[in-house]
Amino acid sequence: MHYFNQAVETMPREQLRALQLEKLRALLSQLMGRNRFYTKKWKDVGVVPGDIQSFADFSKLPFTYKSELVRAQEEAPPFGTNATFPESAYTRVHQTSGTTGTPLRVVDTPESWEWWGSCWGHVLRGASVTAADRLFLPFSFGPFIGFWATVEGARQIGAMMIPGGGWDSLQRLQMMRDLGATVVCCTPTYALRLAEVARRENFDLRSVPIRALIHAGEPGASVAQTKARIEAAWGAKCFDHAGASEVGAHSFECQLQPGGIHIIESEFIAEVLNPETGKEVPGGEIGELVITNLGRPGFPVVRYRTGDLVRLNLTPCECGRTFARFDGGVLGRSDDMVTIRGVNVYPTAIENVVRQFATVEEFQVTVTMMQEMHHLEVEIEVVSGNDAEHVRAHVEQAIYQALSLRPKVTLAEPGTLARYELKARRFRRLDRTPENRSA
Ligand SMILES: [Zn+2]
Repeated sequence: MHYFNQAVETMPREQLRALQLEKLRALLSQLMGRNRFYTKKWKDVGVVPGDIQSFADFSKLPFTYKSELVRAQEEAPPFGTNATFPESAYTRVHQTSGTTGTPLRVVDTPESWEWWGSCWGHVLRGASVTAADRLFLPFSFGPFIGFWATVEGARQIGAMMIPGGGWDSLQRLQMMRDLGATVVCCTPTYALRLAEVARRENFDLRSVPIRALIHAGEPGASVAQTKARIEAAWGAKCFDHAGASEVGAHSFECQLQPGGIHIIESEFIAEVLNPETGKEVPGGEIGELVITNLGRPGFPVVRYRTGDLVRLNLTPCECGRTFARFDGGVLGRSDDMVTIRGVNVYPTAIENVVRQFATVEEFQVTVTMMQEMHHLEVEIEVVSGNDAEHVRAHVEQAIYQALSLRPKVTLAEPGTLARYELKARRFRRLDRTPENRSA
């Protein structure tokens, strides 16, 4: 079994919780009086760091919302009041994609960048990456933090990095083959896209020695049918990971793939709460992930509402790690959940059905509100050479069997649905204005 830090990863849970509390208390004292954003926030509710003596006191601390961080940035541009230290202390700046609102800039010091790399070390080690591996990154480096952090993680592990920016998909496949890439880090969507290109170009994917794919940016790699499809196409294992620019790389899948992702609990405190009441959900129920990062004092988040839906599992994993897991990975966004005739529908549930069909190449789900009710339309692109209407009817039937829903399933012309390299947006809601979305 490969660990990044075995002593910490296999620590008894009481010790792990004590470690979290110790780190939390040190962080709170460090921030009070120095970090303008949190100092004001905590003063407003009358909490001082000394009030937090145990996890029972944790809920005295107010939640943090992304919209507040964006506002803090607007108040003191360009980095905002959540930047704890003088600007000269920072050596890295990245920003969120801004597809659902104002981009949020995040800044790191050399120490917190080292911390990002160590979190990615957990992700890579979880997928049993070693110094003998060659990692291929099929991206140009923009301001998105994810793959920069992967590079830092790979550096800490000693693996070779192969940068694959600025090329088309076929050139990337050839590069992976010629340089003997063993691991590729990309979105699940792009892994499928590369497989699609290989098929079209008669490029033998099995000529690439890839043995693991590490995914980020979308939930797909924990969606059973998407995972199965990627693994079958590549003849390799596919690993999920979850994180966010403002939080860190917080969760990863271990080699044993127990059907969920481990939270790096030595570096993060995860709470799973009812999105409406803000109270902890009973064990095993789906709730919103609220996270505190413990290693980024220069740009911290304390009780941050991620908007991600997860299901917590505390049972020990066969891999030996005591870190808790999120069953099924990130299940979707709390604001993407819709209720249709009393049934709660998550984007990943629909994806899991549609991805069973090798004959469906791409899909798009649209939710509209008509007469106060949500309606779902699923557009599919059928692989040419198949009876499209036959596939369409089958998909409709499969969604009904799995979810007791009868959405309208329609056919899109081949090649017309959007293809994505980063952050696929296959789930569209036309029942709300952009301002209503939590960015
Ligand atoms: Zn495990």
